Amino acid sequence: MALPIYLVGARGCGKTTVGQALASALGYAFRDTDHHLQQTTRRTVADIVAAEGWDGFRQRESLALQAVTAPATVIATGGGMVLAAANRQHMREHGQVVYLNAEASVLAARLAAYPEQDQRPTLTGRPIAEEMIEVLAARDALYHDASHHVVNAMQHPDSVVEDIINILALASAS
Ligand code: ADP
Ligand code: MG
Repeated sequence: MALPIYLVGARGCGKTTVGQALASALGYAFRDTDHHLQQTTRRTVADIVAAEGWDGFRQRESLALQAVTAPATVIATGGGMVLAAANRQHMREHGQVVYLNAEASVLAARLAAYPEQDQRPTLTGRPIAEEMIEVLAARDALYHDASHHVVNAMQHPDSVVEDIINILALASAS
């Protein structure tokens, strides 16, 4: 039975983009914890945060992680999924966890180029480039702690997918 593959990393690192491509290459299902949350609550991340605060959002996020965990599934996780020790442990114990690693400047450039794809309110209210430096400084150790493998996410998405397949020693379906 194929273990789930969890993708962790900051906003913009490519969890959704790479996750969909990886799932299709492997013939796995694809799930996204943010999308799961939005579907089950019928609210956006921004709406949930506005109504219940970040704490309320984080609680729902943990439940979403458990709900989407299934065999032969690639799971894109929210950028803050690793904040809770229980989430890090859940992922490590239930599957293979891959950290999509990218520099703050690269993440900021991607998010600035496609702001409409990013429904999430900024964490600090400060410019995105500054925020990414701050977020990575605070979370890089947690992404490492959560993951079994680290992959360079600053390459073309196809190369990121290839690296993940190689690092997990999974045969491509093609
Ligand atoms: P995440 O789900 O981790 O927040 P996304 O997959 O939504 O990240 O990607 C954020 C933005 O960056 C999207 O516009 C996407 O097209 C772009 N992107 C993602 N991965 C790459 C990559 N490896 N190279 C260039 N652009 C990328
Ligand atoms: Mg995403």
